Amino acid sequence: MQAGVHLLAGLLMCLLFPRHKSIGAAAGDARLGCVLGAILPDADIPVTVLMVALSGNYEVADIYHRTVTHSIVFALLCFAIMTIFADLVRAHIQKDKLWFIARTHPVRRHVFEPQAFGTGLVLGLISHAVLDMMYLKGVAIWWPFSDARVGYPLFGYWTTQTELTVKLLEASDHYTDVLFFFIPVMVVANWHQIHTAQWNQIVGYCVAKCAVTTAFIILAFIPAVSFETFFTLLYIPGTFFFTISVIAPLLFRDAVRRFGDPTVPQRHA
Ligand SMILES: [Zn+2]
Repeated sequence: MQAGVHLLAGLLMCLLFPRHKSIGAAAGDARLGCVLGAILPDADIPVTVLMVALSGNYEVADIYHRTVTHSIVFALLCFAIMTIFADLVRAHIQKDKLWFIARTHPVRRHVFEPQAFGTGLVLGLISHAVLDMMYLKGVAIWWPFSDARVGYPLFGYWTTQTELTVKLLEASDHYTDVLFFFIPVMVVANWHQIHTAQWNQIVGYCVAKCAVTTAFIILAFIPAVSFETFFTLLYIPGTFFFTISVIAPLLFRDAVRRFGDPTVPQRHA
């Protein structure tokens, strides 16, 4: 499923954790978990692309993509780490050692809640697997016990769609996180007056990404460009875009923590 759809599912799940304390401490950590969990399994895409490039064999993609990180065992392991090692994780957060979860915003620090984060993370991971089951070959959710793909493909487009449709679906993937993640996050960030230093970079990235994606949409309509050439070219910027999509919830973690939080921000002079 497209990266933006996963991120949107994560953002919608944030609404399951309404603010309940002064700054929604545990709720904020659960929300960050939801969005990160919803996209984290696709961290296997850059790895898969690298392995395909190194081996020159498209078949190896089935070994790396939609297996380990999309499995139930992986989800349980993530939750176990956040609960069994909760004290350790909390201590590292307090010392700012786990920068990727710690706050970027210096104001309003609070004690990190690994269990809340872990709960959100598992919900996000499950949502990812369920969405991915809806098309292509399904997901190896029973890894490492079975490599069998489980799914209910609503969009088996590799076999039932035209070459043009597949090209357009794959290319348009790169619009979706701009529409479904970066724009909502920028609205929240603007409301809470956070990530202001990153504002120009976010807008610049989104504009550049949409321009590159539009170029590929146009390229899709040129019959002389073969299926293989199109995908090889698409995966050069595509791998970079996917990597940014996966780490985006962490880069904008303060805004993600506040997603769905209607608290009126304190305006600083
Ligand atoms: Zn996936």
